[in-house]
Amino acid sequence: MSQGTYILIIEDDKGIREILEAALRRAEYSCDLAGTAAEGYTLARANNPDVILLDLGLPDGDGVELIGRIRKEQDTPILVISAREQEEDKIEALDAGADDYITKPFTVGEVQARIRAALRRIRPQIARHDIFEQGGLYIDFQKRRVLVDEKEIHLTPLEYRLLVLLVHNPGKVLTHSYINKEVWGYTDDESSQRLRVFMAGIRRKIEKDTANPRYILTEVGVGYRFVGEEEKEKR
Ligand code: CA
Repeated sequence: MSQGTYILIIEDDKGIREILEAALRRAEYSCDLAGTAAEGYTLARANNPDVILLDLGLPDGDGVELIGRIRKEQDTPILVISAREQEEDKIEALDAGADDYITKPFTVGEVQARIRAALRRIRPQIARHDIFEQGGLYIDFQKRRVLVDEKEIHLTPLEYRLLVLLVHNPGKVLTHSYINKEVWGYTDDESSQRLRVFMAGIRRKIEKDTANPRYILTEVGVGYRFVGEEEKEKR
């Protein structure tokens, strides 16, 4: 099973939302659904999706304004899907920070192709390092699979993102605020607490003994560190 790429769909039309959701789940994406701008904003902050699909005409506000709010905190690709087909509407949305614009009616194939293009833009590093392997931990970045001692581990998309961030920085202490910015795109009062909860979840899944971790070490009051290769041999 792939670890899933997180797509947030913000669309008030239930029928369209369901069509998109079904198509994206078939393509093995994880989906979050929001029917209002407020709900969409909350989910974007909580889960920092890989891609956001956004309708502009929402019951509690305009999608263009939401693009601006999200852009202040996150650089997640935002693909607008809207019935507004005037050039000015497209320019306004793109100027506000949208990455792409699809007019309704759309085909599911087109939406999927635009999502793939957006993902290629944000993940150019994948081609360079396909596989990570160290001390029983195995990660296939192409397939987004994680194995520990040859056993498949199922991480949520956010847990996966956190693990990959640590693995890409072996031996370095990553501070709480750095991790929060990289994984969620912002920090606030609840960030440290949220990070502790997520780290505990990852450790339960990948460490044999969470009190004596093999992979991720806590630097008390500072952050976390992935055990480097040379250090691993000494332990
Ligand atoms: Ca709408």
